[in-house]
Parts: sequence; structure tokens; C-alpha cells
Amino acid sequence: MLSAVILLTTLFLNTSAEQPNVVIVLVDDLGWQDTSVPFHDERTPFNDRYHTPNMERLAREGALFTDGYASAPVCTPTRASLLTGRSPARNRITYWTFDRNTDTTRQNPVLEAPAWNVNGLQPGVPLLPELLRSEGYRTIHAGKAHWGAHDTAGSDPRALGFDVNIAGHASGAPGSYLGTHRFMNSKSREDFSRTSKWDVPGLEPFHDREIYLTEALQQRAVEAIDRACSDDVPFFLHFAPYAVHTPIMANVRHLDRYDGLHPREAAYATMIESVDVALGGILDALDRNEITKDTIVFFTSDNGGLSAHARGGTAHRHNAPLRSGKGSAYEGGVRVPWIVRWPGVAEPGARHEDVVVTQDLFPTILSAASVESPRHHFIDGVDIRPMLKGDSSERTVLFHQPHTWGASGPGIEPFSAIRSGSWKLIFFHGDLRFELYDLDSDPGETTDLASREPERLERMRARLQQELRSQQAQLSIDRSSGLPVVLPAIIRSETHSGDDS
Ligand code: CA
Repeated sequence: MLSAVILLTTLFLNTSAEQPNVVIVLVDDLGWQDTSVPFHDERTPFNDRYHTPNMERLAREGALFTDGYASAPVCTPTRASLLTGRSPARNRITYWTFDRNTDTTRQNPVLEAPAWNVNGLQPGVPLLPELLRSEGYRTIHAGKAHWGAHDTAGSDPRALGFDVNIAGHASGAPGSYLGTHRFMNSKSREDFSRTSKWDVPGLEPFHDREIYLTEALQQRAVEAIDRACSDDVPFFLHFAPYAVHTPIMANVRHLDRYDGLHPREAAYATMIESVDVALGGILDALDRNEITKDTIVFFTSDNGGLSAHARGGTAHRHNAPLRSGKGSAYEGGVRVPWIVRWPGVAEPGARHEDVVVTQDLFPTILSAASVESPRHHFIDGVDIRPMLKGDSSERTVLFHQPHTWGASGPGIEPFSAIRSGSWKLIFFHGDLRFELYDLDSDPGETTDLASREPERLERMRARLQQELRSQQAQLSIDRSSGLPVVLPAIIRSETHSGDDS
């Protein structure tokens, strides 16, 4: 149902430019609470802990979505969905990539992963930057790419429609965040002539300097904006800092502010602040070039905040009130900050409760730029402009990860799930169990209503089945039978109290 050929809405552009510039800031692993901007209905201790004045500015000058999602609980699937407009299930890119022809899924005694696209995104399908470039945009990628595996064409953003690639390749993490480390991992640093797949490429002028990786990326991105402006071409900037992904390493410039926190958490807070400073640098560059009114800015993250390992404090609680974190089927795995500054379209300071998801950026941006998508390119995203204008419509979004992730924790198991209205149904592939939550009254997914709401469970199950079929989703393989798992029928209990209609 969600899937639709893109309908072009080329009329009623509100930005003064016919081809507005587009900036996406896609932060890595930034959780829903990793900001001083409150996305929950009330401020939380995390909002008071973190310092993100530029995100606050963006939310003040634009609109935020309280129920914004990443396409997936891990990196590559979300990134691929952004460029294709398709869900991870439809792309069959349902997990993170690394080496060519190599499945990174962790071994599971009961299940194995289906035959997914282990090499990730590759040229040959319509891609957002390519489509924009064909209409005269300069397309710039800065930071983490992680679309295609090493030793494949898709490892290089320039093969995926970007004119400019700043420091992006197949790896999803940097060896180090420090220029003094040449952004290399510890083994390489013992002997800088040794290379590793974690070395960040293309930033040699910053090597051996006291500079943080996010700062180097900001500097290069701002130079690219300035160049596009002096060349008088519209641009698409995909700014994807490696932060706040592991390795968690402090930017010492910001450490004083986080005195008294667990050292790991203080370091994490400085990573968030570095991203915010970079956002500020980009917004300032737009102002300085007098293109703020002609530029749409999207700010979001590729999955929920890391909480299962490598953090200080209590595991699985770093996205509270949401449950769990990166890798999980629960909200902590997929709900992320979403802010849109769109002059003339997004009402400044507005808070929207509509469900939006990463693949929506594809049709939204093409429509804003009056660029046509190939007619036969079936997509799952929707144009969010009507939502920004106040027209809500109920929709169903599928999340699908038939993989066992590296770390363990609540909801970190192979699953499929749908969000439909305020309701969420999760189907766990291992023990074939359903869980049902009403996110309006229970955003922390504390109370499973599956046994109390059998009729709703039945309806949601049918809806999930329908979405899985229509997106040709590949379910986990049951090792004992060698066949894909099947959604069980709902067995209704005889005594239903009927107290929750
Ligand atoms: Ca990520």
C-alpha cells in the first residue's frame, strides 16, 4: 500500500529558488535522546546533559518530528534506503556490509540469515544523488559512506552519483577520530606505513594535526559549499560525520563541560557536541553565502543510539524513555532525531507527530528539486511536505532485520515489525513470538498487549504479512528445516476481558 510510483509535485515550490540547495546531515548512531532538543513530550535528564545549540537553532527555525525513524537499527540499510527511496526489505540490504561477498551476520544456533545483498548498494539502480546530478546539481558526500562493501564499485560514493567524495569508503567506523593518529587504528599507528580497512581515506592534509575528525569533515564540507556558491550551481550536500559511532573518543576541546560524568559518557557527549558544532558551521556557511532561504536542511541519524556495549552507565538505558538501543527491534533501535528546516514550507518551531522514515527523503527531495524519478522505480518512501503543511495521513512502516547483531540485549534478535498509527507489532523470528505496543500511551514498550488485544493483534499480523509480501522481504531461515520462518496464526484465548477496545 505504501509503495507507490513517485507522483511529481513540481508546482508550488515555496523556496525562492527553482532548484533549492539540499543539505542532509545524517549523523551516525545518534540516539533520540542524544541532544538538548526535547523529542519526548517532556525534557529528560539527557536533554540537560547534552549541549546541541545548533540543533536547537535548527528546530526553532524549522520543524521537528517526534516520531521520526531510521529505516533500520544498523547503518548500511538506512544509508541505502536514503539513496534509493526503498525500504531495507525491498533493497534486500538488511544488515551492515564490510568485505566483498561476506555476510557480517553473527552466528545464531537456530536461525541463519537469508541470501541478502551482502555487498550492499551498487550502481545500476536509480539513486538520489545521480538523479539530482542529472538535473544540474553538484553532489557532495562528506564523511561516512558505508553503502557498499570493500572491493566493490559501491564502496566509492563517486560510483553512486556523487561528484565529490570527502573521506567516504566501505568502512563504517574510523580507526581514530584524531588527526594526530592520522585517523588510523592503533595497529596502524604503531607503524604508519601499515594500512588497515579502518583508516579514513583522503584527509592527509589533516594528518599529525590537533584536529578532530568531525572538524576536518566540517572544514571540507564548508569549502565545498563555498565552491558551489562561487560556481553558481545548486548543490546537494550529504554530510555524514563518522561520529558518534565507536570508537568513543573525546574531543578534548569540549571535555570541560562534561566534568563529573563517567569518562566514557563525557567522551560521548563531546562527540555529540562536535557534530553540533559542525552543523553550526554548515548553517553559518549558508548564511555567509546568503543562500539560507534557498536551502533545505534535513537533520537525522542512521539508527538509534548505541546502548548494548562500549558505553558508561546502565546498558540499554541510554535512549530512555525508549527501550534498548542500536540493533534492537524496540524504539531505542530505530527512533531518531528528525529536524527539517525548509523555508516557506516547514513552520518554524512546529512539532509534528507524523511517522516519518529515512526513505521518505528520496521522494521529498526529488519533489522539492523538481526532479523526476524513473517511472518504474518502485519506492516505499513518501513525500513529507504535506505533513509539514499539517496534512496528516495514517501510514504503515515496515522494519525488517533478519539478522543476529553482534551485541546482545532487549529486542536484539532477528525480527520484523510494523508501526501503524500509534501501534507497533514486532515479530521475533527465533521463537515466533509477537509483541504488541501502543506507543502513544507506552513509548517505552513496557506493556505487551498481544494477549489483551487479540483482534488488534490479528489485524496487525495480517498487515505485517501484507507488507512483508508486497516488499518481497526475506525472512530468517530456520536451521532445522532449511526454510524461511512463517508468521504463526493468532490463537485467540477463550476468555478475553475486552477491557481495551
Ligand atoms: Ca549507524
